[in-house]
Amino acid sequence: MLKVKPPDGYPPEQGRYVRGNDYSPVAVCVILDTFDFAIPSELNELAMSGIDSGAALSGLLQTENIGIEKMICNVVANPNVRYIVLCGRESSGHMPGETLLLLKQKGVDKYKRVIDSTALTPTLSNVPMELIDRFNKQIVTIVNLLCKPGERDTKAPGLNPTVIAEAVKACYQEEATPFMGYQLYDIGAYPEPAILHQMVAVLQQPKQSVEPGKDKMSTGLMLHKFLPQSDCQKCGKRNCLAFAIDLGKGKLHLEDCPVLDQPDFAENRKVLAKLLE
Ligand code: SF4
Repeated sequence: MLKVKPPDGYPPEQGRYVRGNDYSPVAVCVILDTFDFAIPSELNELAMSGIDSGAALSGLLQTENIGIEKMICNVVANPNVRYIVLCGRESSGHMPGETLLLLKQKGVDKYKRVIDSTALTPTLSNVPMELIDRFNKQIVTIVNLLCKPGERDTKAPGLNPTVIAEAVKACYQEEATPFMGYQLYDIGAYPEPAILHQMVAVLQQPKQSVEPGKDKMSTGLMLHKFLPQSDCQKCGKRNCLAFAIDLGKGKLHLEDCPVLDQPDFAENRKVLAKLLE
C-alpha cells in the first residue's frame, strides 16, 4: 500500500489542531460553535479522542472560509490523508460543517464560492483552484457525524469521543469496515506528490471585497448567540437580532438590554463585553 513521508514544512498552516500519525489516512474536524476564548471542554475532548485513536491531524474548525482554506492546505500537504471525520455541532453563525460537506459534494463556482452553502461568506479566495480540486480528489469520504446546532447530548455520535475513536480506527483498517453506513478502510496515499501551499503571503494582501453589510451582519449574528433571545422588545428593538446588529455597530450598549442584568445571563454578559472590547 502506498504511503508517503510528508514534506518538510508539513503542516503548512497553523491552527487549533494537534498533529498525530503522519501516515494515518484520516483527519478529524471538530466544528467550533463558540468563540475561541471559550472552547467547550467537550469539543477539546473530541479533538483529543481523534488524535489518541490515530488521526493524522485533529482539531477545530470555526469558519466557512479561512478555516476551510487552512484545512485544504494541510490536507493536500499530506497525501496519506484520505478521510475526514466531521463532528461536533454545527455553528449556526458560520455554517462551516455544511460548507465543508457541500465543498466535497458540489465543489465551488468560478468565484470559488462553495456551491449552495448557506453561510455568509463561503468563498475560498486564498487558495488556488488547483488546491480545491486536489482536496476534493484526495478526500474520498467525509464521515458526517455532525450534530445540529445547539445539541448538548454528549451521547449523540458527533459529540461522543468513543464514537469518534471508532470512526478513526475504521478508516485505517486493511479491509472494508462498516461504520454507521460507511465502508471504511485505508486505501493508501493519493498517488500524486504533496502540495505545500502557505496562505500567509495571500493573507497579507488586501482582503477581497465583501458584499456591503455582510461583515456587520456577521458580527451581529455572533453577538446574537449570547443575547437572551426572548425578543421581548424591552430594548425598543423589534427582536434580539436587531439589537445585536446595532450593538455591533456601537449604536446600542449592553445596558440597553435590561434582561442581561438578570443573574441567569451573567456569563453571557461577560462574553458579550469581551467581544465588544
Ligand atoms: S431587551 Fe434584550 S432580550 Fe429583549 S429583545 Fe432586546 S435584546 Fe432581546
